[in-house]
Amino acid sequence: MKISGILKPLKDIKPVTDFLKLLDSLSTATPAEGLVSRVNKTEDSSDDDKEIVANLRLTNKLLSYHISKFESVLDNLNDGIMIFDSSGRVLAMNHIMEQLLNLKRGDIKGKHVRECQGGNGILDFVLEHSESIDKLVEKTADINVGSSYLRVSYKTLIRGDGHPNGSLLIAKDITSQKLADQVKIEFLSHVSHELKTPLNTIKAYTEMLIGGDVAGRDTIVEFCNTMNEEAGRLSTLINNLLHLSKIEMGGLVLSRSMTRTKEFIEGIFKVATAQKKKNINYELILPEKIPPVNIDKEFMGIVLMNLIGNAIKYTPEHGKITLRVDEEVDRLMIHVIDTGIGISEEDMPHIFDKFYRSSDAQVRHKTGHGLGLSIAKQIVELHDGEIRVISKKGEGSQFTVVLPIEERYFLE
Ligand code: ADP
Repeated sequence: MKISGILKPLKDIKPVTDFLKLLDSLSTATPAEGLVSRVNKTEDSSDDDKEIVANLRLTNKLLSYHISKFESVLDNLNDGIMIFDSSGRVLAMNHIMEQLLNLKRGDIKGKHVRECQGGNGILDFVLEHSESIDKLVEKTADINVGSSYLRVSYKTLIRGDGHPNGSLLIAKDITSQKLADQVKIEFLSHVSHELKTPLNTIKAYTEMLIGGDVAGRDTIVEFCNTMNEEAGRLSTLINNLLHLSKIEMGGLVLSRSMTRTKEFIEGIFKVATAQKKKNINYELILPEKIPPVNIDKEFMGIVLMNLIGNAIKYTPEHGKITLRVDEEVDRLMIHVIDTGIGISEEDMPHIFDKFYRSSDAQVRHKTGHGLGLSIAKQIVELHDGEIRVISKKGEGSQFTVVLPIEERYFLE
């Protein structure tokens, strides 16, 4: 909203305020009423007096209307607003400013900014610049108030004839913007680090191979395997980042279709467990008939691959991984159950956060970027479903994807 818009009602009431100053000497509930009762008490009041009374009544009504209109405009703004006259006295302020300053408007209206106690540093900012306000056009600063950040702007109000006419203070809560900036910086530094580590390894190994410092076929193969693994890590990270940015920018449009649940899960389970690197027992338990689910096969595939991949990664040799599907009234539950390292109570609230990895050595020992569960959760939620987890440190974990069953029929 433009400042001129906010101030218009004030301008409107200016003549009325001047007029009321004349009536201030009357110690009655409202100035106009005072004069009205005086005139009424005078027995020989003339027609002129009666007209004055009528005009005063009207003026009084108009004044109340304009003040309440002006205050309600200010109170409906989302930023804190405070208006000072040209001598630095508080003319008006809104609810938000009251909350930000932790002061009541009734206590400070009419006072000079110097006389207003408190104000969380906001009023110090005004004081700092109030001397130069006649020349000042606008001064803006970010102020830290407790755990919040405020962007305060103090500007001169310029009259139509170009002369300064008081000043205006606007305070905007920018806490969420500041936090988002902080997250962005942390995200960038994290991603740069995660990209640099495998790249450095690949570069070092390549240089050694090119320099002919590596002797023997076995060592060369070992070097190539390491480089291949690091390239794989890079590619997983980049894919995850691409998925994440697509989801978070709201650009992920699911391409959903009614899908044969049984075939879909069997296919994913087969691919996810194909690289039987470890001595792990795999089990797939599916009901005889499962209703179809309305999913984007590619993205739901990413979810299940992540969950099964984690189960394999965090389950030591001789463990067991089970994928079981249960049906509840109108929901399908896809459980990925492992007998692995489990999740501690401290880690549990954070495992779906971006880049979160437990500080536990058993987790740190495995490769990962802490993005898989965050992506999985967001994809499932885009499908109107949810992910649940039950886990006990040292015993294992159960991740459950809950999906709505939209239509209860079976695709032949
Ligand atoms: P990543 O596996 O790449 O670290 P994820 O987002 O997939 O990232 O998982 C986040 C964290 O959740 C992991 O670092 C780990 O601490 C924990 N976690 C996930 N799945 C399991 C599991 N099946 N068993 C034990 N811990 C798990």
